Amino acid sequence: MRDIKELDFKELESVLKSWGMPAFHARQVFRWIYQKGADDFGCMTNLALTLRKKLQDDFYILGISVIKALCSKDGTEKFLFELKDKNLIEAVSIPAEGRITACLSSQAGCKFSCRFCASGMFGFKRNLTCAEILEELHYLKAGSQNKRITHVVFMGTGEPLDNYDNVLKAVRMINSKDGFNIASRRITISTNGVIPGIKRLAQEGLQIELSVSLHAADDKTRFRIMPINRIYPLKELMRACRAYVRKTNRQITFEYILIKGINSDLPNAQKLSTILKGLNCKVNLIPCNPIEGLNIVPPGEDETRSFKGHLIRSGVHVTLRRSRGQDIEAACGQLRSRYVKK
Ligand code: SF4
Repeated sequence: MRDIKELDFKELESVLKSWGMPAFHARQVFRWIYQKGADDFGCMTNLALTLRKKLQDDFYILGISVIKALCSKDGTEKFLFELKDKNLIEAVSIPAEGRITACLSSQAGCKFSCRFCASGMFGFKRNLTCAEILEELHYLKAGSQNKRITHVVFMGTGEPLDNYDNVLKAVRMINSKDGFNIASRRITISTNGVIPGIKRLAQEGLQIELSVSLHAADDKTRFRIMPINRIYPLKELMRACRAYVRKTNRQITFEYILIKGINSDLPNAQKLSTILKGLNCKVNLIPCNPIEGLNIVPPGEDETRSFKGHLIRSGVHVTLRRSRGQDIEAACGQLRSRYVKK
């Protein structure tokens, strides 16, 4: 038995043809799964019984199950999923002003151990398959009472560009008219700076958004909070980002988590505005979440305002984001960390 979400449209057409069935049924099957949220072939009433039976014998639709669902008072919903091999992953649905953003995981665990993130605390387990990624979205859609999910961000557990092929296959299905039909400009891949992945992505011809977790503007500080900086130093990362913007003609978003005593004072803001000079980009400032066991705290209001003010005066497009769902531990890896510990 295989997970049917592993197949793209053409692959399902080939399977149908190999069974002697008309290929056009692929479109009907996809519509049932991705647009109507079906989780059982039996309910696909416009398909012949023989086809439904054949699909049921060879494929399943859902391979992950929810073991915990939490809803924040701000409307954010967080799901903890168990995969078939018992690994745990998280996904979050974030409603805001007429949009619902699905935040998806791309790996079970993470190998990069960023200092401000709970996901890196328990190491790396494995890459998610394309089907498992799509199932997160399937569940979020069902959990939002089938309200339309308008945006997708790969900002959950794991580094999406470290699971490049499966993530890109999922992105294509999320974007496809026969899949979730979400516009490419509403899909964001967020990387902590995997340079080969950024270079590859620049060649894909996709209109998706790229977000780069910068979090520091010099190697010493960045290495202190993001060990990946030893493999992909800041200067090379910025060179890759500039090349990406030149090639795709698209703006990059830089994420910058403000951590008191590490990267949030005025000299750091000055270094940041210097390395971003002339680059088509915007910066999201995010005061860090205090996370049990990680010993980090956000700066006060004054320091945050001063950091942001310097960027604005330097001509950098900047927004200040507040973490959502703090009462349900919605930041990356927080919920999972409670269950992995047990
Ligand atoms: S921030 Fe991303 S890359 Fe860093 S440890 Fe967390 S999940 Fe991994």
